[in-house]
Amino acid sequence: MKGRFFLVDDIQRVQIAGLQQALVDGDAHTTNELEVLRRRSIQQGIQLEEVSTMVNILARMLIESSSIDPKVLAYRVEAELEERRAPVPVPTTAATCVLCGANRTSADVEVTPYGAVCEPSCP
Ligand SMILES: [Zn+2]
Repeated sequence: MKGRFFLVDDIQRVQIAGLQQALVDGDAHTTNELEVLRRRSIQQGIQLEEVSTMVNILARMLIESSSIDPKVLAYRVEAELEERRAPVPVPTTAATCVLCGANRTSADVEVTPYGAVCEPSCP
């Protein structure tokens, strides 16, 4: 089996981009908040690596036992990822921020892969 089905690098890139955006938006005001974000990012990276390793071992075992076709598996994983990456539809009248839980109008939120987030910054 070539390649990995669970792309930790992609997810870490999204996390880092999120942290950088928080800095640009001024959401992270203090050194302490930045430290919390840095530590959380590292912890999530470690957890993702563990999950990635387990998923890859399971996939390899299933392929080696001829339980699944690696091409079919790769195709289905890619199809699932494409579906998950599709923008989450935001209601035109209101949206709830996934970070702070505030109810906003659709004009006051940005749609992210995780849901609506206050725009320009979350209080
Ligand atoms: Zn918010």
